[in-house]
Amino acid sequence: MPQTTTAPQWRVSLADNTIDDEEIQAVTAVLRSRWLSPGPQTRAFERDFAEALGCPAAVAVSSGTAALHLAVLALGIGPGDEVIVPSLSFVASAAMVALQGGTPVFADIRSETDPTIDPADVRRLITDRTKAIVAMHYGGYPADVAALAELAGEYGVALIEDAAHAPVVKAAGAMLGTLGDVGCFSFFATKNLTTGEGGMVVARDPALLDVIRAARSHCLSSSTWDRLHSGAADYDVAGIGLNYRPTEIASAIGRIQLEKLAHDRRRRAVLTAAYRERLAAVPGLVAPFAHYDGDSARHLMAVLVPEGVARNDVRSELRERGIQTSVHYRPTHHFTFYRERFDSGEHPLPVTEAVAARLLSLPLHALMSDDDVALVVDGLSESIVRSSERSIP
Ligand SMILES: *Cc1c(COP(=O)(O)O)cnc(C)c1O
Repeated sequence: MPQTTTAPQWRVSLADNTIDDEEIQAVTAVLRSRWLSPGPQTRAFERDFAEALGCPAAVAVSSGTAALHLAVLALGIGPGDEVIVPSLSFVASAAMVALQGGTPVFADIRSETDPTIDPADVRRLITDRTKAIVAMHYGGYPADVAALAELAGEYGVALIEDAAHAPVVKAAGAMLGTLGDVGCFSFFATKNLTTGEGGMVVARDPALLDVIRAARSHCLSSSTWDRLHSGAADYDVAGIGLNYRPTEIASAIGRIQLEKLAHDRRRRAVLTAAYRERLAAVPGLVAPFAHYDGDSARHLMAVLVPEGVARNDVRSELRERGIQTSVHYRPTHHFTFYRERFDSGEHPLPVTEAVAARLLSLPLHALMSDDDVALVVDGLSESIVRSSERSIP
């Protein structure tokens, strides 16, 4: 068979995965078994993931967005309900709130160096309509979950953790995703644990997780696998559900990716340290979490370009050198739909506004070499110097 690839050829790509023969063999075994919908691999993946998080159970789903949707659905969020979300996040959490008829309310981030949701701003935004708070662990670094959990407890609202960047990361004495009421994970292709597309949900209350598990598959009283293996002939439907089931193929990949996570993380830590050392020499550049030394997935290497430097010029110059970059994220309240529907302009987000125009994500993945880091930082420094020269009249 001819080798084909559709991946663009970057000299240093933004993200990459650690898929190799192990996953290929696991997938082949699933295909040979000819059972492709949720079955033993999915159950084992859920068990392995729950064990890694130190919680009793987990529910595997088809994406991180599905995980967030099930969280919002199971918490009963609907019309008239407000959910406080960080604007500086992927659009999915605000979207799933809006999809259920709820109102996303955008909160600011803490600072340039800690771009996670600011508990003080969350407190200002709480009303008697608030039903939940979403904490997103930016780049795999923990949001202040202890403060947010306390706030959620004080006001009797739920805490949802968007832990898409942070599978198996310990902070405040527990695994991220297990500190709030519901934890949502993504296994999208660029995430540090990937199954191509996929996700996982955990919940503190087993009854809530039961609701999530049921809604993942139409609220059917038994699965196809159960019916085949227990002889149960029929099923009942207890509510409105969806089809957010993962495939056995994805689950088999996930189990191996989970085993590889510790190794992946060690490499990311080395690369991040190398980046930080070199980036410290770039004048005006800010590297968020530079002094954080706790556990992290080190999913992103985000920086803030110096003030006055045109980020797009820097991005184009790096692209010309074969270096792929991204922006995590354009604030959600800037997008047309959210600006028109949910941003009254009454609650400004000054830190988000200041940071958003300067954010730039540099390549970071376990297959990078030390030389790649040098190449990226050299390219970045040179493009910053050129951009500053251009901006001088
Ligand atoms: C990737 C991501 C999601 C969505 O996950 P999908 O698996 O792509 O649906 C949600 N939130 C954050 C912060 C993400 O990075």
